[in-house]
Amino acid sequence: MTAAILDNALGAVGHTPLIRLDKIAKAYDLKCNLLGKVEYMSAGGSVKDRIAKAMVEAAEREGKLIPGKSVVIEPTSGNTGIGLAMACAIKGYSVIITLPNKMSLEKEALLRALGAEVIRTPTEAAWDAPESHIGVAQRLQREIPHAIILDQYKNVNNPLAHEYTTGPEIVAAVEATPSTSAHPSSGKVDVIVAGAGTGGTVTGLSRAIKKKHNKECIVVAADPKGSVLALPNNLNDEDAGAMYVVEGIGYDFVPDVLTRDPTEIDYWLKTGDEESFDAVQQLMRKEGLLVGGSSGSALSGALRWLKSDAGRPIAETEGKNVVVLLPDGIRNYMSKPWFLKIAMEAEPSPLAGTIAQILKKP
Ligand code: PMP
Repeated sequence: MTAAILDNALGAVGHTPLIRLDKIAKAYDLKCNLLGKVEYMSAGGSVKDRIAKAMVEAAEREGKLIPGKSVVIEPTSGNTGIGLAMACAIKGYSVIITLPNKMSLEKEALLRALGAEVIRTPTEAAWDAPESHIGVAQRLQREIPHAIILDQYKNVNNPLAHEYTTGPEIVAAVEATPSTSAHPSSGKVDVIVAGAGTGGTVTGLSRAIKKKHNKECIVVAADPKGSVLALPNNLNDEDAGAMYVVEGIGYDFVPDVLTRDPTEIDYWLKTGDEESFDAVQQLMRKEGLLVGGSSGSALSGALRWLKSDAGRPIAETEGKNVVVLLPDGIRNYMSKPWFLKIAMEAEPSPLAGTIAQILKKP
């Protein structure tokens, strides 16, 4: 992004900062650089703005969208919907979003504020059931004239958006930062950690980094307990069918855009709600970063991997760069009980006693 005037909010999609997580690294005794790619700073508030913009622009190039006529329908966990609703508000297309019930009220409110219709669907419906968010979107598309599903689960522009933007931004930031005695750097992205929903992010990041920057880079993917995305498959057995609260990652089917190539994703980890929310609290308290739940999953997965036999040699090497993708922000989740718990039931500050004493005085 240049400092020049932007035509509209789509010019402020992406271009997010890569930020050191030094205090967390210190707390976990890491010698490597722990870095967060902070995607809530994108215009619509998440990493999915990038694919929404890419899918809409590609459909326009292919002549598939007509302003004032086309109806864009998309099944999503919310963030792709917000990105699409933003792009379509700007460009003049109608939008219908199908959203599983578990997704936050904040996402629904944002979607409606951007002018989208929102249809809630049962969270427990299997992906191929007619009442699921995917099934309802398909039923609507069949009946509504000029309706199109851009389909983030199959659309090549989903992983490509990350191969062309998210990945190169990370590489550019690492390459632009000189190695100093305070912050030694290998000059390369040595490890990248990302959660998987559609899998577009982790697939595109892997391709950007391994093909064009550092083929030795280790790619680690996080999948919530209860989801089926991890490989080898037996990792998914222990908590098969379990529900989880974290939004945006995990599925009950393997989307086409998620690579199954073991040379593109080196390690998979299963993450739980509790460790994810604990990691969100640390990102807020230690680093001042207002991230959402799946950012906590990515960080807790990264920390667990760095403490494993595979990760320890990296964790203990000064200058190795470990990048954690932080997909969205806490403003999507402010009414969720898990957030209110980490915000309101946090340990009292050391000032609490002093304040109470002062206010007791007549
Ligand atoms: N976190 C959040 C909050 C998301 O909305 C998504 C998108 N579903 C992801 C992580 C995962 O991204 P991807 O679909 O590219 O795997």
